[in-house]
Amino acid sequence: MSRLGLIPKEEMVKRIGSAYAGASRSIVTILRDLNPDSYTATAGGAALARVRAIVEQLNMKAAEWARRSVKAAYQESRGIAETRLEAIGAQRPKPKKGAKAGSADKRHKKAIALAVKRTTRDYLKANRTILVTAGRYLSTLAYARKKLDDYREASVQAFTSEAIKDYIKKTVAGALVSKSKYNAGEADLTSKDIAGKIRAKLLDQIGGGDFIIVNGKSYNVKSYAELVARTRMRESQTQATIELANEFENDLAEIPRHDNPCEEICAEYQGKVYSISGKHPDYPMLPDGGPPFHPRCECTLNLTSETALRWRNK
Ligand SMILES: [Zn+2]
Repeated sequence: MSRLGLIPKEEMVKRIGSAYAGASRSIVTILRDLNPDSYTATAGGAALARVRAIVEQLNMKAAEWARRSVKAAYQESRGIAETRLEAIGAQRPKPKKGAKAGSADKRHKKAIALAVKRTTRDYLKANRTILVTAGRYLSTLAYARKKLDDYREASVQAFTSEAIKDYIKKTVAGALVSKSKYNAGEADLTSKDIAGKIRAKLLDQIGGGDFIIVNGKSYNVKSYAELVARTRMRESQTQATIELANEFENDLAEIPRHDNPCEEICAEYQGKVYSISGKHPDYPMLPDGGPPFHPRCECTLNLTSETALRWRNK
């Protein structure tokens, strides 16, 4: 099994990114159709059901993507590592007495399954927050509708600018702090105008597609999906390399230099040789379990050996 053919990883990343971008556009379209002055619970419920259907589709797409792409990334690195080990003359150790045939394959399968599971979990977790964001948007619309009705009932025709400012602030439930100035001229705004202003502000919030919430921060769905894809693929590549190193009982690995090291920390690791087990007398333990060392890290891991290093230094 020495397949060196490089898989189009960047294309794979873009594929999941565009699935998320498409879902995001559909959700924005659904939410944009709702207006604070005509909002009803029925309309909100129907919108949420449509958003949920989109999220469910996304769940399936993400799981399928993880199954294929994370596995492909793993297999690619497994092939590269094996070719490399053969090139440096490493020998696969004789199977230990009583060891079951195919146990290495089983370990790889297990490692792939785990990497796929982690990736899928990232996506499903993020997708749930898309639904939460959409739900919050609908609650805000419902709240705005109620407030607008209250004002209509009170047949208030005009507000002072201070009242409008205060009102808009409250209507968007404090989530959107109004930064714009309301001048005296706007004191004549009708409730319809106010509804329009609220809608514009709300649309501002979702227009960028920042539907995913992680640790209380909002992220653009496409960039987040691509971030997960890049990070998890690289992680599974490291995993494949380490599994193969274990299989060959080959403890040394090197983090090759690449142009424009992604982060200061990576610049420090690059070009150095590490011990995977951390038990080697001359080389330090592979930091952090190997790359990626941070999101979007471009560092890789190459297996090497004392023999290979001696050849190189001759
Ligand atoms: Zn890096």
